[in-house]
Amino acid sequence: MLVVMKNSATPAQVDRVVETIEEMGYEAQPIPGRQRTAVGLIGNDGQVESARLAGLGGVLEIIPVTQPYKQVSREWRPEPTVIELDNGTRIGGRELVVMAGPCSVESETQITDVAVRLRDTGATILRGGAFKPRTSPYSFHGLGVEGLRLLARAREETGLAVVTEALEPDSVELVAEYADIVQIGARNMQNYPLLRRAGRCGRPILLKRGMAATIDELLLAAEYLLAEGNRNVILCERGVRGFDSHTRNLLDLSAIPVVKSLSHLPIIADPSHGTGVRAKVTPMARAAVAAGADGLMVEVHPEPERALSDGAQSLYPEQFRELMAQIRVIARAIDRDFVPGLERRSEKVG
Ligand code: PEP
Ligand code: MN
Repeated sequence: MLVVMKNSATPAQVDRVVETIEEMGYEAQPIPGRQRTAVGLIGNDGQVESARLAGLGGVLEIIPVTQPYKQVSREWRPEPTVIELDNGTRIGGRELVVMAGPCSVESETQITDVAVRLRDTGATILRGGAFKPRTSPYSFHGLGVEGLRLLARAREETGLAVVTEALEPDSVELVAEYADIVQIGARNMQNYPLLRRAGRCGRPILLKRGMAATIDELLLAAEYLLAEGNRNVILCERGVRGFDSHTRNLLDLSAIPVVKSLSHLPIIADPSHGTGVRAKVTPMARAAVAAGADGLMVEVHPEPERALSDGAQSLYPEQFRELMAQIRVIARAIDRDFVPGLERRSEKVG
């Protein structure tokens, strides 16, 4: 439920609303807006007796939040959430954001070399797994802390921000020490202890949709993060289980406009895990941008045939460069901004 204050409401009147909500046994969250302040009421699982609040000074109206998720909903916050990283990347605004890199960090030269090429052709965020969730216990599970160190070194050399996955609650703080964005993978979307810990880690979170999760379940998983005080959440559509074997997953592009209508949080698309097939990544990346995604996550490997994970869906750096040039054209057609890396830098210099 939202208590919307009048334009003319005084800070004391806002405080009174907060106190009353707390006296009623709920949590109050003031939400200052451009026009007026609202106070959100959290902690209720059903109907709240609102007459007491409606009668307080400075209150304009009471808006019930009808969705099961509250703080992630558009009702709670009509304006889009824009997340700004230390390297200046803004996620959720007009500009499209590209996160790219190998599935796994494998060595210093692998990650640094590819990072330089990605930065020069369009990415502002480097991806790379250090802790990898793998279907088989015998597969490569990442370099662990060494992988995190290599990512941080690549950030120093390139200026790219870093996104990498935290697999378990106890490693969230460690990952957050090195990462600009902590990723929660599809397999962990409903790992509630992990979500709670990530919600308290102080870093933006990239939350990937579970492979059999509905959109409401994705938004409720995001609600866990916001309920812990973390408002910097980016959602990611990465494909759900389908019944056709030509692609690894079914990239649900309709989730993008659906999420946009239900939530103020940014949503990006991952056509790499979404298709599992290199040749299908570029067409689906283009389609995701056209569908209104705030950005892309794309796997790129300097030598995909030698990759220790997900080589079959990793683009060659040259393919990534071509994709970025195409994205630029699509962005212009839908009134979004996207300037691939090199040009961005030369524009600054010039
Ligand atoms: C990944 O990004 O490397 C990954 C494992 O993704 P997902 O959780 O979407 O499978
Ligand atoms: Mn992968």
